[in-house]
Amino acid sequence: MGEYDLVVRGGTVVTGTDTFRADVGVRGGKIAAVGEGLSGTTTLDAGGMLVLPGGVDTHCHIEQLQEGGGADEESWITGSTACLAGGTTSVVTFSTQFKGQGILAPLAEYRRRAAHAMVDYGFHQIITDASDAVIFDEIPQIVAEGVRSLKAFLTYDPLHLDDRAYLRVLAAARRAGAMVTVHCENYEAINWRTEALIASGRTAPKYHAWSRPKMIEREATHCAIALAEMVDQPIQVCHVSCAEVAEEIARAQARGLKVWGETCPQYFVLTAADMDRPGFEGAKYMCSPAPRTASDHEPLWDMVRRGVLDVVSSDHSGWSYEGPKGKRVNGTDAPFRDIPNGVPGLTARLPIIFSEGVSRGRIDLNTFVRITATNPAKLFGLYPRKGSIAPGFDADLAVWDPTKRVTLANEMMQHVMDYTPYEGLQVTGWPVATIRRGEVVMRDGTVQAPVGSGQYLARDAYDMAKPRGVLPDGFDASAFA
Ligand SMILES: [Zn+2]
Repeated sequence: MGEYDLVVRGGTVVTGTDTFRADVGVRGGKIAAVGEGLSGTTTLDAGGMLVLPGGVDTHCHIEQLQEGGGADEESWITGSTACLAGGTTSVVTFSTQFKGQGILAPLAEYRRRAAHAMVDYGFHQIITDASDAVIFDEIPQIVAEGVRSLKAFLTYDPLHLDDRAYLRVLAAARRAGAMVTVHCENYEAINWRTEALIASGRTAPKYHAWSRPKMIEREATHCAIALAEMVDQPIQVCHVSCAEVAEEIARAQARGLKVWGETCPQYFVLTAADMDRPGFEGAKYMCSPAPRTASDHEPLWDMVRRGVLDVVSSDHSGWSYEGPKGKRVNGTDAPFRDIPNGVPGLTARLPIIFSEGVSRGRIDLNTFVRITATNPAKLFGLYPRKGSIAPGFDADLAVWDPTKRVTLANEMMQHVMDYTPYEGLQVTGWPVATIRRGEVVMRDGTVQAPVGSGQYLARDAYDMAKPRGVLPDGFDASAFA
C-alpha cells in the first residue's frame, strides 16, 4: 500500500504558469501532493509524457432539447465518451429556454438527462424570452442552484434577443451575480442578406458564409460590449472568428472592462472554402460565425498570444451528416438557411490546439493549458476545483504524448456523429490517458467510465462575475428593470 491511491509517476507537469518534472499523488479523488518519489497503491507511468490538467470545455452542446420534443443526437453517454477520449474532463453545456416558457422545467429535464454523464458538468442557461417571471423570479432560482452563467443570442430565430431583452438579461445577471456569454452577430443584417442571397438563387452551403460576413460579427460584438458596459455586467464574447472582431474586445479590455473572448478550433483550421466542397459536402463545415479565410488564422493566433482571446472551446454541436436529424434533414437541395448549423469537436479540440499551437511553435505549453483548462475554469466559476494541478484540485488529468503523430479520422472522435470536419488533418500530440477525479477513465483510446459517474458542478459566487461598480451617471438601472 502506498501513501496515495494513485500516483502518476515521472511525467512533466504543466500548469497555466509552470512546467516541471514531478509525480502527482491522488487521494480521495483529489490531488494530494505534487512532488518527487511519491508511492501509490496504483501507479501510472508517465515517463516521457506531459501531465496536463483535464480539459475544461465551456461551450458545447450535448443532448440539447429540441422545440418539437426530443434532443440533439449527441447524448450524455456518447458526448462524455468523446470528451474523455480527447482529454477533456469537465464541460459547461447549455440548458435552453423555448419562447413563451420558463427556465425551471427545462433545467430540471437537463439535469435528469445529465445523470448519465461520465464527465463533470455544469450548465449555462440560454435566455430566449426575457419575461418578468424569468427575469425576476426564475433566474435567481437557477443561480441558487449553481447555474452561474446565462447565454444570450443576438441572432438566430427563435433564440434571438432584441436590445431591450438583452439589457434585461444583463441586468438580471448583474443582480444575481452570474456571467453572461453572448453570441454576437447582427440579426437584421443576416436576415436581409439571406433573403437577398436566396432570392438570387444563391442557396448552396457556401453562401452561409456570404450571409454573415465579418462586419456583421464585429458590429454585434461592439453592440454587446457597449450595452454590457452601460449595465456594468461582465460578459464573454463567444466563438470569435477573426482578429477584427477580437479588436473590439481588445479595445474594451484596454478600457478596463470585464470583457473576455473565446474562440474555437474551427477558426484556426477551417475556411469558408470548405463550405464550397462538391455536392452537399460543404454542409459539414457550416457553423456560425462562419469560418473565414486562411489568411485570418495567423492574426487570430496573435489575439490568443496577446491574451485578448483567452478561452478555446469546441462549440460542439449535435448534427450528424446522414442521420435523421442531421445536415441532410431537409434534403441535399436545401437552401443554406435550412441546414442544421454547427460542427462537432469535443475530442478534436485539445489535439488541434496543441498541434497547431504548441507543436508549431505559436504558443507555449502554459498558454495551451491556460486557454483550454485554467481560464475557462476561472471564467465560469469552476476554479480552484478544476483547471490546474495542485493540492486540493480535483484529480482531473490528461496524460499527453507530445510527439505522437496522428491523422484525424472520425472513428477516433468516439462521438455519435458520422463525420468530423477535421478528417485527414495531421496533428502532433495526443492524449494517451485521461484521469477524472482520480479514476483512469481512458487508456490508449479506450474509454471506461461508469455511466452516471460524472458530477454536477454547482457554481458559487465568484469574482470574475462581479460587476466593476462603474455606472454611467452612477445610476443603476439594473436595480429596476
Ligand atoms: Zn454554441
